[in-house]
Amino acid sequence: MSGAINPGSTLGVLGSGQLGRMFAIAARQLGYRVHVYSPEKETPAGAVADREFQGEYDDLDTIREFAGSVDVVTFEFENVPAPTARACEELVPVRPGGSVLHISQNRLREKSTLQSHGLPVTPFVPVHSTEELASAIASAGGRGVLKTASWGYDGKGQIAVKADTDVDVAWTALKTDEGILETFIDFDCELSVVGVRGLDGSFVSYGPLRNEHHNHILDVTSYPSLLPEKVCREAVEITREVLESLDVVGVLCVEFFLTRDQRLLINETAPRPHNSGHLTIDANVTSQFEQQVRAICGLPLGSADSLGPAAMANLLGNLWSHGQPRWVHALSDNEIRLHLYGKADPRPGRKMGHLTCLGTTVEEAISRVRTARKALLPEPP
Ligand code: AMP
Repeated sequence: MSGAINPGSTLGVLGSGQLGRMFAIAARQLGYRVHVYSPEKETPAGAVADREFQGEYDDLDTIREFAGSVDVVTFEFENVPAPTARACEELVPVRPGGSVLHISQNRLREKSTLQSHGLPVTPFVPVHSTEELASAIASAGGRGVLKTASWGYDGKGQIAVKADTDVDVAWTALKTDEGILETFIDFDCELSVVGVRGLDGSFVSYGPLRNEHHNHILDVTSYPSLLPEKVCREAVEITREVLESLDVVGVLCVEFFLTRDQRLLINETAPRPHNSGHLTIDANVTSQFEQQVRAICGLPLGSADSLGPAAMANLLGNLWSHGQPRWVHALSDNEIRLHLYGKADPRPGRKMGHLTCLGTTVEEAISRVRTARKALLPEPP
């Protein structure tokens, strides 16, 4: 493949959390150097990178210094301002491109763009005032989820609303000028597909992965989803169409609701490796992070084949509330793989790491990963 960025080159990552860390580990394994950029220092990704730049995202001088030090830029955090991506694009390729970032940063822009490509999204209405909120709830059939258009993740910036909700209180609580009211979906389950698209247009994918959330945060992901073949094929096909229509080079995850009548609706997209794809490190021939490296470097994509039924359980900061988790107990099941992100401060709700387990069946993998996570906590008295 021509124009490849070969091992030995330097890859730049905007953002320096756990996704950047797992990307950097995969990149270094392939012989690349990695520079990361974020406003923080001593970060999860910085700890395994060759160089950690610290600067605000709107500090374009430091951004240019960072971009000038690498051969290609990618990101692990989609809320990078558009001028930052543009400043990088003036110096080196940014993959996926800044236009993909721009679309995924705003739920209204994201859903409208996907809809304009004929893709199925959760029904939505833009909301800019209490009056618009009242009529939006009525048009959603009396039940919806009010979300900020920008800067929402893991259920932050979301309020469940019903016909009898005080719209003044709800709108004020959202603290935004631009909101989106989505129809409440009484879903059968939540799924995701992690898609990867190479520089030459090649495509591979993982999933559909089945996702269980707790308090709006991903809790457990498992594969296979055990859903009908038709639903699985359609989820992958929609994901391929999303990556193609947005001309993504890199990794993009599509999160779906599966309705009770077996229709797939896109909830949101993330133009980077995704928490639901973490099990690919242990349970697939090539991980989502290695695929991000390969795609942005113009290398052939690796096989996404599954090595067997698998499950992943997130480890949130809450597990530290009684002191150091009991690692020895969790790892006494020798099939359990532990991944920690090197974060010093285990705040409740903060993603500190994850556990993965392969099993003979997906039910077994889920049960073992849950049992291992529970074993981290002290025995009840
Ligand atoms: P989000 O940040 O949009 O991914 O939302 C976090 C979680 O909230 C989702 O994974 C769902 O469990 C729930 N949720 C969000 N939007 C809706 C909706 N329109 N209907 C039902 N549940 C929702």
